[in-house]
Amino acid sequence: MIVYNIEKVEELLALCVCCDKTRRKIGIDVHGVVTRYPDTFAKLTRQLLEHGHQVHIVTGARVNRELVEKLIRHNIVWTTIFSIVDYHELIGTRVRYDENGPWIKENLWDKTKAQYAKKVRLDWHIDDSEVYGKFFKKPTRYVLLK
Ligand SMILES: [Mg+2]
Repeated sequence: MIVYNIEKVEELLALCVCCDKTRRKIGIDVHGVVTRYPDTFAKLTRQLLEHGHQVHIVTGARVNRELVEKLIRHNIVWTTIFSIVDYHELIGTRVRYDENGPWIKENLWDKTKAQYAKKVRLDWHIDDSEVYGKFFKKPTRYVLLK
């Protein structure tokens, strides 16, 4: 796990953009990342796609109209979206709902982003939650945005 502030994240992604011989796969969390620095990620996601890299939106929230509209409103562009909740519903994990949203067993929830990262071989995943970091293994590097 690497701890970066937004300036370092910008540097990292700018490096990907300028060295576009290697196609990179970049994971980006929504809440606390895109929502905290929407202008920065609007610019960076556009540049990444323009240079042939992939932007994977990796979020806990369900992929629905609200989420997509939020991303569009922030001018975020992406290749694909992965949702922890949608994934667990798809594979039949028990999902419980209350007024705070969906719940599944904590240990299952916390490692899901890492499982996705491994499956699609993300190069980097940028997130604001420290708890997911320990599950990430090579080739993905977990960037904790502070
Ligand atoms: Mg977050």
